[in-house]
Amino acid sequence: MSARLIDGKAFAAGLRRRVAEGVAAFKAETGLTPGLAVVLVGEDQASQIYVRNKGRETVAAGMASFEHRLSAGTTQAELLALVAQLNADPAVHGILVQLPLPRHIDEAAVLAAIDPRKDVDGFHVTNAGLLATGGKGLVPCTPLGCLMLLEDTLGDLSGLEAVVIGRSNIVGKPMAQLLLGKSCTVTIAHSRTRDLPGVVRRADIVVAAVGRPEMVRGDWIKPGATVIDVGINRVPAEGGKTRLVGDVAFDEAMRVAGAVTPVPGGVGPMTIACLLANTLSAARALAGGTIF
Ligand code: NAD
Repeated sequence: MSARLIDGKAFAAGLRRRVAEGVAAFKAETGLTPGLAVVLVGEDQASQIYVRNKGRETVAAGMASFEHRLSAGTTQAELLALVAQLNADPAVHGILVQLPLPRHIDEAAVLAAIDPRKDVDGFHVTNAGLLATGGKGLVPCTPLGCLMLLEDTLGDLSGLEAVVIGRSNIVGKPMAQLLLGKSCTVTIAHSRTRDLPGVVRRADIVVAAVGRPEMVRGDWIKPGATVIDVGINRVPAEGGKTRLVGDVAFDEAMRVAGAVTPVPGGVGPMTIACLLANTLSAARALAGGTIF
């Protein structure tokens, strides 16, 4: 048996098209252009690439992109002043501060300073709290993208056993909340979980967000399960090159599961598409004068 490949790249392209249509309608209705400000502190190479891609996709969707590249020596006070300026700027509807920040800056303090209505990453405690209490806020992009792929693959998720591996604020915890919101029976596994293979074997839905190359083996997966691989790991390849692999042993999973996301081309493209969708949602909410 071979699992179905979940084509995140194609789904993300469709989502970006729908966002672009929504942006055009929003502009026609309000005369406003949704704007996304991305703040990058320091020279981290992977972050530079993400920020460049985000800017390009934002403009392609018909939105305004504002990039703020600050030196690694930027102080916390300077960063907080920029966040306050963006909070007050009516042309900016979404603010994203690229993580990780240099070690001398308190990440939590910076995230807390972002206006929750403009918090398109969904990391502010107000948005985390709204997600946890079933309210309507801005939802972190990566888990939102995973949920879209799951619903597209499975339809109604109600009653399914879901195991999320990883408990970060960025992926694992919000993913678990979203699945709970869809009436799954949710288990959050993490580095201290006993018998991880046994826990994963129960799952109709496995979401792996760990950061360990090919950790989840084929014999951990219940036959027919749907596997969402969030991990992005660069590993050595032939000829001194490197390649990207996920947290799931892909070939093994394809022999057992019902459906699997590839790495690359699965969850990754969904993250930026959901960021664009969140920016449009924030612009709509801000223009409508409602909190969310
Ligand atoms: P993180 O390091 O903050 O969290 C990793 C989690 O994995 C922790 O909660 C930890 O308890 C758990 N863990 C570690 N070792 C484990 C083990 N042996 N068994 C079980 N659980 C274990 O990472 P994160 O920010 O949540 O990201 C996870 C992965 O997802 C990374 O590879 C990251 O690059 C990737 N990621 C991808 C996207 C995307 O757009 N596709 C977005 C964000 C993160």
